Amino acid sequence: MQQTLQPEKVEVSNSDQELFIKWADGHKSVFSLFGLRKNCPCVTCRGGHGRMNSFDQSLFFVEPNQYFEVESINQIGNHAIQITWNDGHNTGMYQWETLRELCPCEECYPKQE
Ligand SMILES: [Zn+2]
Ligand SMILES: [Zn+2]
Repeated sequence: MQQTLQPEKVEVSNSDQELFIKWADGHKSVFSLFGLRKNCPCVTCRGGHGRMNSFDQSLFFVEPNQYFEVESINQIGNHAIQITWNDGHNTGMYQWETLRELCPCEECYPKQE
């Protein structure tokens, strides 16, 4: 694993509906909670093993039609976080690698036409 994939800081703001990550390489990612919840990497949300990795970055840019709150974040080893949502869902392990790939900043995900 690359060292750059480690986050320096993880902050969640339910009032802003955002999860903020500052990475060890200085990169910053701001994820909408809606997009994160909809991109939950657990098998149930991904629709089974055959469709794993079908993440949709555009979900970070759509107008949320649902309100999600993060109740808690648990660090899993040094490679992932487990998010407990206010709807009780908590089986999603968000790998740092996945979160970095999903980064919706303009550099990582240039504006889609
Ligand atoms: Zn899930
Ligand atoms: Zn980025």
